[in-house]
Amino acid sequence: NKTANQMLVIFGASGDLTARKLVPALYNLYKGKHLPDNFVVLGLSRSNLTDNTFRKRVVLESPYLKEALKGENQDFVDAFANQFFYEDLGDDYDVSYGKVNTRISDLDTKFGTGGNYMFYLATPPNLYETIAKNVSEQGLSDESSGFRRLIVEKPFGYNLKTAKNLNKGLHQYFNESQIYRIDHYLGKETVQNLLVTRFANSIFEPLWNRNYIQHVEITNAESVGVEKRGGYYDKSGALRDMFQSHLLQIVSLVVMEPPINASAEEIRNEKVKALKSLRIMHDEKTLYDNTIRGQYLASVIDGEKVKGYREEDGVDPNSKTETYAAIKFFVDNWRWADVPFYVRTAKRMPTKVTEVVVHFKTPHHQVFNDVDINNMDNKLIIRIQPDEGIMIKFGVKVPGQGFKVERANMDFYYSSLVDNHIMQAYERLLLDAMQGDATLYARADEVEAAWEFVDPILDYWENNKGVKTYGYSAGVWGPKNSDTLLEGNYTWRNPGEH
Ligand code: NAP
Repeated sequence: NKTANQMLVIFGASGDLTARKLVPALYNLYKGKHLPDNFVVLGLSRSNLTDNTFRKRVVLESPYLKEALKGENQDFVDAFANQFFYEDLGDDYDVSYGKVNTRISDLDTKFGTGGNYMFYLATPPNLYETIAKNVSEQGLSDESSGFRRLIVEKPFGYNLKTAKNLNKGLHQYFNESQIYRIDHYLGKETVQNLLVTRFANSIFEPLWNRNYIQHVEITNAESVGVEKRGGYYDKSGALRDMFQSHLLQIVSLVVMEPPINASAEEIRNEKVKALKSLRIMHDEKTLYDNTIRGQYLASVIDGEKVKGYREEDGVDPNSKTETYAAIKFFVDNWRWADVPFYVRTAKRMPTKVTEVVVHFKTPHHQVFNDVDINNMDNKLIIRIQPDEGIMIKFGVKVPGQGFKVERANMDFYYSSLVDNHIMQAYERLLLDAMQGDATLYARADEVEAAWEFVDPILDYWENNKGVKTYGYSAGVWGPKNSDTLLEGNYTWRNPGEH
């Protein structure tokens, strides 16, 4: 696809996201010749920088580009850096943007960016609405002389009420079709591949329902703790930070009905429908039985002492904020009635992994003896990270007398398919937004539907003093009682174990 000439205007350009994610993604796009002929980046924030110091900070001397720039031709690198400009906003993001408007129009005239502007909000979220308002008051959200897009970073609200307020606030200044809410999980190849696995093959979809699927399990495990983000994390927790956004996005792709085509609107319509069919838990007993929160405790991992969550910098020593969240729920529709979904996300797990495990039912009639369901049920595993790929587990006969059944694996790894560069999430998403493709961006109603489901859980955890936060030693697969969530004799699939 051809990308139109345009300008990327970043608010909060002195921050971590710009240097760590956005500029390296832009560099890869530049290298891959995906940027339009006329392209300019205008960085805006309160920090006192100039075009040159900004270029040094985010490109020429950036620690996040050091590796990539090694051995590159200097003219090639300079040509990239020279596309970056900077304007400081003064003391506040809530001032008239007349100066910004003038700079944008000067750069537009000089570099021929065609009146097409993309505004990227990389500031703390409490500024999103203010910035949208100021941009719009300058006439810069008006699309009569070029496209005007607004990219918004998560979090999209703190709960349902604030998410609705944010959507309402932004809609005063930009139409929904101009707003791109970024969820970098959707930029991952394997997440998108969920759609292809399901809807470009005829062998999976006939089985993708309550008649053949026993349960679905999604695990998102990180081996690290909160690192330097203790202060932020303590106000957020695993449910907000991972579950409401990334994991419910994955759930919607597993659950959704086939869209009539692959357009952004049709795919997102089906995702919203899927999210709306998650059974909301209202009463305390249901919430007690189906949700578990936990916190990692100090431990020794590979001979090294690691802190417990409550000892981390920036964390309240009496904090109840979860670093582990496991939720069991049902999907109330024709396809999924009575199929339990188990989703967990946690820090300080034994390994870093994100995967979807579809457990198929055991055969109606068991002909062979001694089949251990946890080991022998058919599983389709979609590995989102690391070692992106798909695995199928099924039983085969062990050669020799009798009918001893053993598990066999059929594995596909993405790395075997592509030997050159796989686009990273931000690279892919930025390029999509530049081309006006919102398929992989979250729509307002999608975000609100996800919050509708999460809000009662948050409320129950935060406002009910009786709810326990279970401890688990850093480096194990969560609190001991987390297995009680699973029905029957099933246990979680802990990657590497079975
Ligand atoms: P950051 O490092 O704190 O940068 C944000 C920038 O916003 C700062 O450089 C600062 O620039 C400006 N700012 C304006 N008012 C501020 C205030 N009251 N406090 C702090 N900074 C203020 O944050 P970030 O990590 O780049 O994240 C930016 C946004 O992206 C946030 O909404 C975050 O939730 C989201 N996000 C970040 C990541 C990531 O990987 N970093 C991932 C997902 C989402 P000036 O002081 O120069 O104006």
